[in-house]
Order: sequence, then C-alpha cells, then structure tokens
Amino acid sequence: MKEVKYIIPHGHTITKENRQQLKGHKSVILWYTGLSGSGKSTIANKVEEKMFDMGLHTYILDGDNVRMGLNKGLGFSDDDRKENIRRIGEVSKLFIDAGVIVGTAFISPFRSDRDMVRSIVKEGEFIEIYVNTPIEVCEQRDPKGLYKKARAGEIKAFTGIDSPYEAPEKPEIDLKTDGRSVDECADEVIAWLAAKGYIPAEEPALSNN
Ligand code: ADP
Repeated sequence: MKEVKYIIPHGHTITKENRQQLKGHKSVILWYTGLSGSGKSTIANKVEEKMFDMGLHTYILDGDNVRMGLNKGLGFSDDDRKENIRRIGEVSKLFIDAGVIVGTAFISPFRSDRDMVRSIVKEGEFIEIYVNTPIEVCEQRDPKGLYKKARAGEIKAFTGIDSPYEAPEKPEIDLKTDGRSVDECADEVIAWLAAKGYIPAEEPALSNN
C-alpha cells in the first residue's frame, strides 16, 4: 500500500475561473446518456463541431478514447462498469478545472452512477442530456448491428434488452430525437447553454436592409 498521508494539495495561482475568463465561456460536463443507437455520439460530435466554429474550447470522451487507454483492462461486470463511469467522472472534473466544455457519450444506464458524477462537481457543472429515443427507433437504426446480435443471443446483458436502462428523472435537457434532424438536436443543446449563460449567445445574422 502506498503512503498517501503526506499528499497535501498545492494552492495553484491560476484558478478555474481565470481559465474560464481567458476562454470566454464556462466549463461544464455535457453528459449524454441514452440507449445504444439513441444518438449520443452523433449529437455530441455535431455539438462540438458547432462550438468549435463558435471559438469554444471542447473535448469529447467516448468509448474509443477511454476504453482503449485510461480504462483498458476494465470489463463489463457491474463493478467494472461502475469504475468505468467513476474514472470518466474524475477526468471530466479535471477538464472542467482546465476550462474546457467536455462532452461524454456513454450509455451510463444507472441513475446512481450518473448521480455520483453529479455529486463530485459543483452545482450547475453537470448537464445531464437525456438522448431520448424510443428503443424501437434505436433498434431500427441499429448503426452498429448490435441489437441484431443481442436479439440473436450473441451479446449478453445488452442495455434495453436484457439489462436495464434507468432513464433520467430530471435531466437538464430532455432531447427527443425521433423525427428530428441531428442539426436540430444539436442546436437545441447550444441554445439551452446560451440561454443559461454558459456560452455567449450567437450574434444575430445581419439583415440586408
Ligand atoms: P449512440 O452513440 O447513442 O450509440 P450513435 O450516435 O452511434 O448512437 O447512432 C445514432 C444513429 O442514429 C446514427 O446513425 C444517426 O445518424 C442516426 N440518427 C437519426 N436521427 C438522429 C438524430 N436526430 N439525432 C442523432 N442521431 C440520429
């Protein structure tokens, strides 16, 4: 066991608030949650594209960059899933401190895990975005062919089929995607953040007359 008794936090001169001021926007976690195929990655990506064009500082944590590195070695047992989310939460908290808007795109099916992440950051820094797509629509989209495999019994404990998904009760944003374009959904997220003062409001387009 390592000695941790003498780890005393250093009082750094430059604070989160200084970094936010320099960047001209607040730093928050945009926590996208929803079933597989609901649109988390697609919308997180579109929101990031739009924010980048607005000059905002962003980053996305997703299965590709987390499971392959930081969380390599974690499997899909209950304990490992919990640890997976805990580490993502801690890394997201560091991004907030760094002044960055961090999007996370994980199914994160359990309310208690999402609430745990909410509890480690300050009030208003955790924006839960429920990518609210009915399972029939997700299954029809099936972008990675996973529902087909799960129905055929090739994948066990698949969320929504033989593993539960606990929908958020009071998400900051309840984002319905069925029958809407990716653009519309992304615009809804950006408009919400601007209305709450997290990011600057976009300049209205100049009229020609
Ligand atoms: P997840 O990350 O939640 O598993 P993906 O983003 O990988 O889901 O896949 C969602 C699929 O649904 C994509 O193929 C996307 O093009 C499609 N789609 C259709 N309409 C929408 C919408 N309004 N928002 C997001 N995705 C949509």
